[in-house]
Amino acid sequence: MNGIHEGWFSEIQDDLWPGQCFSLKVKKILHEEKSKYQDIKIVETETFGTCLILDGIIQCTSRDEMSYQEMISFLPMCCHPEPRKVLIVGGGDGGVAREVVKHPDVEEVHQVEIDDRVVDLSKQYLPNMACGFEHPKLRLTIGDGFEYMKQHKNEFDVIITDSSDPIGPAVSLFQESYYELMKNALRKGGIVSSQGGSYWLDQDYIKKTMNGCKQHFAQVAYAVTSVPSYPSGNIGFVIGSLDTSRSLRDEPARKFTNKEIDKMGLKYYSTAMHKAAFTLPRYIEKHFYES
Ligand code: SAM
Repeated sequence: MNGIHEGWFSEIQDDLWPGQCFSLKVKKILHEEKSKYQDIKIVETETFGTCLILDGIIQCTSRDEMSYQEMISFLPMCCHPEPRKVLIVGGGDGGVAREVVKHPDVEEVHQVEIDDRVVDLSKQYLPNMACGFEHPKLRLTIGDGFEYMKQHKNEFDVIITDSSDPIGPAVSLFQESYYELMKNALRKGGIVSSQGGSYWLDQDYIKKTMNGCKQHFAQVAYAVTSVPSYPSGNIGFVIGSLDTSRSLRDEPARKFTNKEIDKMGLKYYSTAMHKAAFTLPRYIEKHFYES
C-alpha cells in the first residue's frame, strides 16, 4: 500500500503517532520510487502544493515549509554572534541550504545528505527549495552524516541537523554519541540545532534527546515552530551551545531589523519570532527544564 487511498494520502505511523493521522487530498502522484535508503514519493496536493514523502512520512510541503526551514536555520545562526562556517546534515530537499546562505556572515556552507535521489528529485519537483544547492557558498557531499562527523574536528560554527524522523537512516542522528561528535566538530562557542519532534507527541523522547545533548553542551534549549502538515501541527528543535556567556533563551546574539529580514526574503523568522520560539507551555517547561 502506498498510503494513498481514494485520492487521499494518509500519514499512518502507528509507532510514531499512534491513533491519529494527517491526510492530504492528492491531485497527482508526480513520482514514486524505492531508493537505496527509503521509499520516496512526491505528490501534487489539492491545497498544500507539492509534497515530499519519505517512508510514508511527510517531509515538507511547498505551502508551509518556510516555517521549518527558516526556524531550524536562523534560530541557531542568530544565537551565534558570527556564524561563518555552517554544516547541514540531511536536508535533501535543499530548503535549509536556501535559508542558511542568506545570512550575511556565512561564508561557507557544507552539507552531507545520505540519499542522492532525494536531492535529484527535489531539483526536479521542488525547485523553490532545491535552489539552495545552486548557491556558490554551498558544497554538497553525499554520505552518512554520522560517519562524516567523525572525520571533522574543530571546523564549524553552527551545525544544523535537518533529518527525517528517528527511523531508518536517521536513527543515529538522535543518539547521544552523535551530540558528542557534533561537539568535537564545532569551533569554540559553536551551536547545534536538530529536528527534535513535537511536544504534543514526543515529550519523553525530546527530554531524552535534550539529556543526551546536555552531556556535551554547556547549554541546551528547545524551541518550537508551527508546521500544519507535521503531525500535531508543531515541531521543535533541540539547540545546544558550547558558549556560556549568554543564555540561549534570552535575546538573540544577532538581531536583524524587519527591513533586513524582508531584504533576505524571510517570511516566518523575525527577532520577535526568535524570542517567542523558546517560550513553552508551563507543563512542558517544567518537564524539560525543572525535573
Ligand atoms: N524537514 C524534514 C522533516 O523534519 O521531516 C526533513 C527533511 S530532509 C528531506 C531529511 C533528510 O535527511 C532526507 O533527505 C534523508 O535522506 C536525510 N537523512 C536521513 N538520515 C541521514 C543520515 N544518517 N545522514 C545524512 N542524511 C540523512
